[in-house]
Amino acid sequence: MEILETPYAELVHHLQGRYGKGAFHASALIREVMALGNPRFLEAKAFRDSPVLAAALGEELCFTPPVVEETVCREGVVKVLNRLSDGLAVESVVIPMKGYATLCLSTQVGCRMGCRFCRTGRMGLRRNLTVAEITGQLWNARFVLKRPIRNLVFMGMGEPLDNLDTVLRAIGVLTDVRGFSVGPRRITVSTVGLADEIRQLADATLGVRLALSLNASDDRTRSRLMPVNNRYPLAVLKQTLESLRQHTGLKEGVLLEYVLIRGINDQVADVKRLAAFSHGLNATINLIPFNPSRGETELVAPSDGEVNAFHEALAAEGLHVRRRWSQGEAMLAACGQLGSRASGSLLS
Ligand code: SF4
Repeated sequence: MEILETPYAELVHHLQGRYGKGAFHASALIREVMALGNPRFLEAKAFRDSPVLAAALGEELCFTPPVVEETVCREGVVKVLNRLSDGLAVESVVIPMKGYATLCLSTQVGCRMGCRFCRTGRMGLRRNLTVAEITGQLWNARFVLKRPIRNLVFMGMGEPLDNLDTVLRAIGVLTDVRGFSVGPRRITVSTVGLADEIRQLADATLGVRLALSLNASDDRTRSRLMPVNNRYPLAVLKQTLESLRQHTGLKEGVLLEYVLIRGINDQVADVKRLAAFSHGLNATINLIPFNPSRGETELVAPSDGEVNAFHEALAAEGLHVRRRWSQGEAMLAACGQLGSRASGSLLS
């Protein structure tokens, strides 16, 4: 049984059924591992006082976060290479904020969504991460790298909603106040727009925030950039987001990520269509200048002036726009820019 992926209720159930123990020892396990970062959790007082239990748990419990193999720091942003038990690897990114930090998590090795602007997509899907490989990225950031992680964004490698059951379970572990204790409102799940899974995420009533990687304002362009649009076109996404406004399972207001690419999605008509799409959604647009992978794409980054002009045009339409400014923040960007060489990927 892997501690990093076992929710409290299951631990209690297991300890009761097998050892006649329960909440006290389950809480102690979760507190030691996930709140205090103690990998030698069976040496904690609760288990020193119950040596027979500790010996038995020592036989059946495992604690196997990914191994932090390499880190690279640029402008305060730290990229972490997490080596998995089968030799594959994923990246996570620590982004410093004022007084705390945000961690960008990966959910898959590779990705099958095939977005054209994304290096991870070109890898194809190797496999889904396990719950422990997701929660272990936070454990590493907090207890190996000693970073004060407060916010989590599922924007790393992979499409989180393509590994939905695992992500839901991971969020359950990450939000447990006995352990990692990340508030649901401090968690953002970013998706390319798997509409059915967005509804399932809302139905899970976890109270997390949703970000939609939009990147185009018309179906033709979006399908060119993101093949998933053929399955879930913009009208379906808009309808899905509208229906969620009445839903309590996700926090109100959606973040629309928009990677600006010169000559592709940066026209005046795009501004108008984006305004129409955003209408009634209580949306914030996250404007991200495209960050090309060297020699790996024919897509072109916009100039600062072009980004500014697009930003101003959106604001003039009354849209709420956020823009990432620093090179460091651009390393996070939207899902899809994480695995690029230009963003300093640690993956070979
Ligand atoms: S942008 Fe995200 S969803 Fe698209 S291929 Fe890349 S990792 Fe997958």
